[in-house]
Amino acid sequence: MGHPLLEVKQVKKHFPVKGTIPFVPSRQSVKAVDNVNFHVMPGETLGIVGESGCGKSTLARLINRLISPTEGEMNFKNKDLVSLSKRDLRTVRKNIQMVFQDPYASLDPRKRVGQLIEEPLVIHGVGDSVSRKRRVAELLEIVGLNPRYQNRYAHEFSGGQRQRINIARALTLNPELIICDEPVSALDVSVQAQVINLLKDLQKQFQLTYIFISHDLNVVRYMCDRIAVMYLGKIVEIGSYEEIYHSPKHPYTQALLSAIPVESPYENKERIILTGNVPSPIAPPPGCAFHERCPFVMDKCKTETPPLIETTEAHRASCHLIKKEEE
Ligand code: SF4
Repeated sequence: MGHPLLEVKQVKKHFPVKGTIPFVPSRQSVKAVDNVNFHVMPGETLGIVGESGCGKSTLARLINRLISPTEGEMNFKNKDLVSLSKRDLRTVRKNIQMVFQDPYASLDPRKRVGQLIEEPLVIHGVGDSVSRKRRVAELLEIVGLNPRYQNRYAHEFSGGQRQRINIARALTLNPELIICDEPVSALDVSVQAQVINLLKDLQKQFQLTYIFISHDLNVVRYMCDRIAVMYLGKIVEIGSYEEIYHSPKHPYTQALLSAIPVESPYENKERIILTGNVPSPIAPPPGCAFHERCPFVMDKCKTETPPLIETTEAHRASCHLIKKEEE
């Protein structure tokens, strides 16, 4: 089966909350990521889905070490990302790149496209000016843009073209892992498909591994081999694409899937409407964090936290109903 490219073990990220009494530190914290475990195999795409505020983007920033975890271990190619020195981290970072959600905000408007794509090479001291210019032209071609565009500014491009520039920038240092944080959610639907196809082609061409973060299960299904569903900082279900789409176990996953529009007017699909809002990550409800919105809630859900139970070899979900099925 091989060795995972990335292993995330019991990772937590709790942000302290400012106290209301001056000079008295608050004991409360926002549990943005709470005890998350998963792995990513080389060449696969792991999708991470969930509503806004569930901790997906914090998780992306943790893996890229833009922020440090409160607890836990993250191994990338057997190197512990948490304990690496700044120098070693810089080297590992070449191998883990990000494509951000907003193609407008993620490109410096004062720089020309050529400078933006060349920047990672300059920062890491790769090549001389001539070889870097050659690489920029090559990358623009790879992402489907004219190499002559390198003298233009980002504002001269459409949203889809800007996201292609972001992708070119992420590819500059030949990374193995790219974390795509909602890479198409700010784009028009017609452009979304083009960017997704580009990412898929690049994966084949350069044997890339992706972590694909999205709130939209409809988008994720075109991209991912495996999917992790997050709710309030925790993974509540993880499994292969087929298992998550055709045999979801967690009521939250079932509700998310029911919200995907039907492909044919003759298709009959019952929509599960979740009531209530996502609870505060400062004070998550006891027991199952989903119990206040779950249509199948039982008494034990309000007090006992369900563990992630293995339903098949690669499919796990945390719900007391699964235990009930097995008993
Ligand atoms: Fe719903 Fe209970 Fe399962 Fe949580 S543990 S998802 S509340 S049935």
